[in-house]
Amino acid sequence: MALRYFCTTNISTRYHEASTKTPVPPSFSLTNSGMHSSTPEANTKNKSTADNLKSIVNALVLPSISSSPLHSLHKGNWVKLICGASFEDVVDIRNLSLVYTLAGVDCIDCAADAAVVSAVNEGIEAARDIVCVRRPWVMISVNDDKDLHFRKAEFDPEECPADCSRPCENVCPANAISFLGKSSGISCNTEATSVLKDGVITERCYGCGRCLPVCPYDKIREVTYVRDAVTTADLIQRDDIDAMEIHTSGRQSNLFKQLWSALGDSVGYLNLVAVSLPNGGDSTISSMNYMFSIMKPNLQSFNLWQLDGRPMSGDIGRGATKESIAFAVQLAKAKERPPGFLQLAGGTNAHTIEGLKKEGLFQTTINEYLHDDESAINSSGSPHALIGGIAYGGYARKIVGRVLRSMQSEHGGAASIEDHSEYLLMALKEALALVGPVKCL
Ligand code: SF4
Ligand code: SF4
Repeated sequence: MALRYFCTTNISTRYHEASTKTPVPPSFSLTNSGMHSSTPEANTKNKSTADNLKSIVNALVLPSISSSPLHSLHKGNWVKLICGASFEDVVDIRNLSLVYTLAGVDCIDCAADAAVVSAVNEGIEAARDIVCVRRPWVMISVNDDKDLHFRKAEFDPEECPADCSRPCENVCPANAISFLGKSSGISCNTEATSVLKDGVITERCYGCGRCLPVCPYDKIREVTYVRDAVTTADLIQRDDIDAMEIHTSGRQSNLFKQLWSALGDSVGYLNLVAVSLPNGGDSTISSMNYMFSIMKPNLQSFNLWQLDGRPMSGDIGRGATKESIAFAVQLAKAKERPPGFLQLAGGTNAHTIEGLKKEGLFQTTINEYLHDDESAINSSGSPHALIGGIAYGGYARKIVGRVLRSMQSEHGGAASIEDHSEYLLMALKEALALVGPVKCL
């Protein structure tokens, strides 16, 4: 009963109890080297706000993440932040990684790009400079074929009629479309340039596709791509990558086989291999079994199936998570599925936990779910939660992204969030409201 009480405790309330005791000063740096201010009074305030942030993380987050990401998968409280397979804004990615590391995520999933991986790891280490939290696994995402997650929108702004009301700009959830860039206040956070261009800011576009149908002049094109397997195999051998996710339709097993074969021995460097697939109805389980048979001879790590409900839609609203819940119910009932953890994604948001609880799937073991004495043995050989956890993408980026946008409009597009404590506290509050319920904070 005590556990049930803590699981239903409102994280926002607990956060406020801890955080509102100390007023937040206007601005200071939380980094070990940068807690500077101009007056002794301000320095005292700065120190108490830093202590306040540390006490929140120490009290709420650390107890729940004292064990490994693998343990979270077993318990069913694994949380993954999806930065986006195509999202390459390295400043945002670093800040998001910092905030969600402090909030206790188990894994951060990002594009299979060297600069992006470095940004994720910099964010993680910056968080660990503030409070000694456990390092989340870093996962890179690749694809075996054309896939919604691996595309960019593109158009030539010179071709746009001057009187167009620019619905593309309004509908974009990533602030990836801009006109008159130099006056818009949005930054193009790439390593190469900080100059904003008109049109699609390629690094920020993550391929959601929402701009494509709204253009009344049909000016916007989608450009799809497949990550190169050989480059990916080299990247995996870096010592700051722990996991890989293969996005597949599940219908082209020859392409999956080609990719797996091209990755070769590099998969031996990983702790976890995930396969992200859509719900293929009756053929889903047979596709999963076939893909597992391809991976098995060379699989030296744990494996996970990402159930991709409604891709890149979690920020749209409450109903977006329904498809991922339905997918989980379908897989939970299937007895012939291959080994591997199950994790939800695609439309996941603040309503996902509620949906899982309604279906009796939140942190439930297979024996509890099926009322069955048959033992549930996963790839590690232990009974575990039927649903290992949840990955949050668009929704997670939206709630913290709002804070990042405010900070950038005040302090510039390259601002590091640890240098602006009031924003870090706001962002951490948002992140904890999402991560906390999964971790039963
Ligand atoms: S595809 Fe999505 S993220 Fe990319 S520009 Fe269009 S609306 Fe923005
Ligand atoms: S909606 Fe189409 S025509 Fe209008 S600004 Fe956007 S891309 Fe150009």
